[in-house]
Amino acid sequence: MKLQSGARVAVAGAGALGSAVTLRLARLGFQVTAFDPSLGHVNASSVAAGMLAPVSEALFDPPSRDHLDVMRRARNLWPDFAAALGVRLVRSGVRIEGAEGWRREVAVRLDALGAPAGAFIDEDWRIDARQTLEALHEAARNAGATFQSAAVRAFEPGLATLADGRREAFEALVLATGPGVRGGDLAPETRVLTPIKGQILRLSMQGDDEAPVVRGEGVYLAPGGAALAIGATMEHGRDDLAPDRAATKALRAAAAALRPDLDLDQAEVEVGVRVTTPDGLPLVGWSQAPGVLIAVGARRNGWLFAPLVADLVGAYLTGDNLGQDAAAMDARRFEKPKT
Ligand SMILES: Cc1cc2nc3c(=O)[nH]c(=O)nc-3n(C[C@H](O)[C@H](O)[C@H](O)COP(=O)(O)OP(=O)(O)OC[C@H]3O[C@@H](n4cnc5c(N)ncnc54)[C@H](O)[C@@H]3O)c2cc1C
Repeated sequence: MKLQSGARVAVAGAGALGSAVTLRLARLGFQVTAFDPSLGHVNASSVAAGMLAPVSEALFDPPSRDHLDVMRRARNLWPDFAAALGVRLVRSGVRIEGAEGWRREVAVRLDALGAPAGAFIDEDWRIDARQTLEALHEAARNAGATFQSAAVRAFEPGLATLADGRREAFEALVLATGPGVRGGDLAPETRVLTPIKGQILRLSMQGDDEAPVVRGEGVYLAPGGAALAIGATMEHGRDDLAPDRAATKALRAAAAALRPDLDLDQAEVEVGVRVTTPDGLPLVGWSQAPGVLIAVGARRNGWLFAPLVADLVGAYLTGDNLGQDAAAMDARRFEKPKT
């Protein structure tokens, strides 16, 4: 399916992926409306640490180990993407800290990845997630997109049905609902998605915003604005947003081992739910459901992947060249072959 410029496109979800897609499509000349029932409230995209960290993710998140090249290509889109939005890209890297035995283990894993060995990773960057989300919304509005506070409940080619019963004419729907749509609703491909609850601690402190992220065993410390982000739990199968102190115990202990001076009892807990596919890469592309294009399942890397996913969605809708990463993220790659 390919649409003419000026066609009406609905985007369900205004997190990192939906917002980047909305901006891209508005700039391509589509009439875009983004729907989200929680506009301005917390989603995974607004609690995220904002790291754009291909090497650290390949090192510390096993499903991402095989995706270093695609993650690096996604990161390489960020300098232009951030500049166009007017958001600051912090390129101060990642410092590995911790017990000697663990650092040796990390060095071996870096070597296996073919990444430069050493206690410093200079190619991982970061942004301020919340500011970037606001900048995306503003840029998308300036490009002609509109945002509505409503959930999309159903879609058939030509018509989106909203949760409040309204029906609006759209030629295509982009599903960027994070963990909000699963189990086959709106698109059968969402059956492969599973949630991973993440709790992150934010400790108010004036630090050096240009300092590197510190990665220790079981924890990262990411400077930013007026707070240090200490993350994050990986609670597989959970999709509730309730802070849960028991689940943050190991995280607090890992942070205290690195920085005994931090008063972690003063930290605020923020909760977001990521959603993952079995191989850790998002689903991007046309669904079996007519007129539905999927952009979900970015696991721990929704910010890293946002510009790449937005470019891909734009290319699917215009019929442009999809580029080399489309196949790895194909929305239908988990379908069983027909016998
Ligand atoms: C603690 C934590 C730390 C993280 N740190 C990083 C990091 O450092 N770097 C990184 O790249 N990633 C990070 N991530 C992962 C990243 O946040 C996610 O991959 C990313 O936010 C996914 O974006 P999304 O737009 O797909 O989903 P979301 O941010 O979940 O947004 C989905 C939106 O869809 C809306 N929605 C749901 N159902 C409907 C519907 N039916 N109709 C309309 N709208 C709907 C929801 O209200 C929501 O706003 C982190 C995640 C967590 C939880």
